Amino acid sequence: MTNPDLRAAQGTAIVVGGGAAGLTAALALAAAGASVTLVAPERRPDPRTTALMDGSVNVLKMLGVWPRLAENAAPLKVMRLIDGTRRLLRAPEVAFSAREMELDAFAWNVENLHLNAALDTAVSDAGITRIAAQLVDVANGSDHVDVTLDSGRTLHAGLLVAADGRDSAVRRALDIATHPRSYPQVAVTATLAHTRPHGDISTEFHTETGPFTLVPLPGNRSSIVCVVGAAEAERLIGLDPDAFARAMELRANSILGAMRLESPRGSFPLSAGTAERLNSGRAVLMGEAAHVIPPIGAQGLNLGIRDAATLAELVADALRAGGDIGGSTIGETYERRRRADIGARTFAVDLFNRSLLTSLVPVHGLRGLALWLMQSAPPLRRAVMREGVGPTRDVPRLVAGRPL
Ligand SMILES: Cc1cc2nc3c(=O)[nH]c(=O)nc-3n(C[C@H](O)[C@H](O)[C@H](O)COP(=O)(O)OP(=O)(O)OC[C@H]3O[C@@H](n4cnc5c(N)ncnc54)[C@H](O)[C@@H]3O)c2cc1C
Repeated sequence: MTNPDLRAAQGTAIVVGGGAAGLTAALALAAAGASVTLVAPERRPDPRTTALMDGSVNVLKMLGVWPRLAENAAPLKVMRLIDGTRRLLRAPEVAFSAREMELDAFAWNVENLHLNAALDTAVSDAGITRIAAQLVDVANGSDHVDVTLDSGRTLHAGLLVAADGRDSAVRRALDIATHPRSYPQVAVTATLAHTRPHGDISTEFHTETGPFTLVPLPGNRSSIVCVVGAAEAERLIGLDPDAFARAMELRANSILGAMRLESPRGSFPLSAGTAERLNSGRAVLMGEAAHVIPPIGAQGLNLGIRDAATLAELVADALRAGGDIGGSTIGETYERRRRADIGARTFAVDLFNRSLLTSLVPVHGLRGLALWLMQSAPPLRRAVMREGVGPTRDVPRLVAGRPL
């Protein structure tokens, strides 16, 4: 490469990974003015759904994705928490309403099939170069980064964005450690049709093995995330479709009437872990390459979308200043701005999950007290709702619905 080529590479970004986080990052970086190449092998079918918080919907609106998705998304206007344990100290039922926060909805739930399809179309409409390959190696240089693909081809860019998921090859190549934690639980997922309307209400039953959550989808349909022990997960997955639907209806106390299985079932062992560093030289980690969090409280991809929005903002500012988009300041600022959000949500989800699993009565009492306080103190309830939807400080411009 000649020197002018290297200088040109400083305004270019390679995004590795074509999951929802990588696709969003590619679009956001292109909107910031970078020249983007997306390295994305074919995706496996994903039967899950994603509840996109209000701020994530703002990002998708700003990137032109939302109009392609809105008709397939259902609003979550009320979130209801029900203590479904059979313990001595049980929490009161609590309902949070989006109206209390002057929002139309806390979040919008969409099948990942539709989400990824809308993102794919937007990526292709944005003219982003897409290469169907796997990354096999990375070489971080002072003025550019080299990426080697399994085809043997080498690409050069000013910035490398690792969105290649929880087993990130980029993270390994850069020798960045994570400290993965596993939980004795598995999330069983499915989409079910039901005879009664959900009324745009998401209901979360807290049980001794973890939450059982019903999340509205368009029509008389809901997705479920049923967190249970490994043996029970295996049993549920092995049931015939009608018996499975009946088992879900029983867990839901029939609040949505009779149920019918509409999708393949998924089974996801719970784990958590955050990369020790989110940047190294000209590379940054995002999405599950950076942080894995149990599927409780719908936080995982929402964090990934905020990673993308933050990075795009830094890149837009660097380009406006005529600078290098992969310089060390960008990586370090990204690391500093993302740490608190990722740390706070990982901590809260872990604490909540452990409070359900423990047999310690005082912990059940504390959880019950916290929920009772939320039920009876509107200011506290609103503060918790605001934090649950997204951070209130250092909000990236796209998340706030403002242009880059
Ligand atoms: C049951 C369940 C329910 C969930 N519900 C929600 C929810 O309601 N709301 C929410 O916000 N989050 C939710 N999440 C979390 C969310 O699904 C994840 O955060 C999200 O899918 C992670 O996206 P990603 O793009 O980072 O990773 P992935 O989707 O894993 O994508 C990584 C991509 O990288 C590619 N790749 C891998 N290796 C390479 C390589 N060497 N080279 C190139 N490409 C590579 C893979 O092919 C893959 O397509 C849920 C998770 C689970 C398990």
